[in-house]
Amino acid sequence: MQARSYLKLSVATAVVTIALKTAAWWWTGSVSLAADALESLVNLAGAVFALAMVTLAAQPADDNHPYGHHKAEYFSSGFEGILIIAAALGILWGAVDRWRHPQPLEALGLGVSLTIISSVLNGALAWAMLRKAREVRSVALEGDARHLITDVWTSAGVVAGLIGVIATGWQWLDPLLAGLVALNILREGVHLLRKSTGGLMDEALDAESLANVQAVLDSHGQPQTVRFDHVFSRVAGQRRFVDLHMHVPARWTLSRAAAVRGEVEEALMRAVPGLRVSIQLLPMDVEPHMLDEEDLV
Ligand SMILES: [Zn+2]
Repeated sequence: MQARSYLKLSVATAVVTIALKTAAWWWTGSVSLAADALESLVNLAGAVFALAMVTLAAQPADDNHPYGHHKAEYFSSGFEGILIIAAALGILWGAVDRWRHPQPLEALGLGVSLTIISSVLNGALAWAMLRKAREVRSVALEGDARHLITDVWTSAGVVAGLIGVIATGWQWLDPLLAGLVALNILREGVHLLRKSTGGLMDEALDAESLANVQAVLDSHGQPQTVRFDHVFSRVAGQRRFVDLHMHVPARWTLSRAAAVRGEVEEALMRAVPGLRVSIQLLPMDVEPHMLDEEDLV
């Protein structure tokens, strides 16, 4: 199944989940169930947006976007992060209000049952999506899956708390739980937002991939004849890019240099799957003029 199919399934599941949780909230009047329902609503908005962005990211490169559209995915996790933070603040506000003006809860058994059903649906979907996200390295899919997992934990906490209310009659457990749910959602929102800004700011490759790149360069470099420098890397959605210089003696023929360059290129692509390598060939003691600018060196 493709990444987009998972996101469509996620949209459908979100609609069902919202219906179940809204009903649970309606019957019980519980502010923690309201928090849980609101989070699912955010899930729906997030899934729809992720679907649009993954579709955009999959577009082939065109004249206006010669490097492709991979970065579209960062809009998705950034947008979702902002939505989650807004939802968390709304829930906090509701919890404080309920704490100050307590109200009796009703039909808690029914509310708890509906919430458990929706959590099982969400949990199964999140598990499948996370596996797919790791396979295809999609931040949009991962963002959506992580969000679903938060949702499952939220519901588990709320269900445990409401069972506590049934057992003890302590109504204040409800707003307390809603507040804790809100803080956890807030944390997840900040995480997603940081992930998307990292991508938009051209973050370097992860340490493991960089070490693999360096190992390949070390094994192909030779004292006096082949030297690599100015290694820059960046990540754009599912794509990873490395730019570097390969310095060879000026007396080498271009075809000899190109043959070595080709070997290095292939070795790098084997070492880091999905890597786009750009190797600039230069004579031993020559650097491009643009490196004279201080901020690039
Ligand atoms: Zn150089």
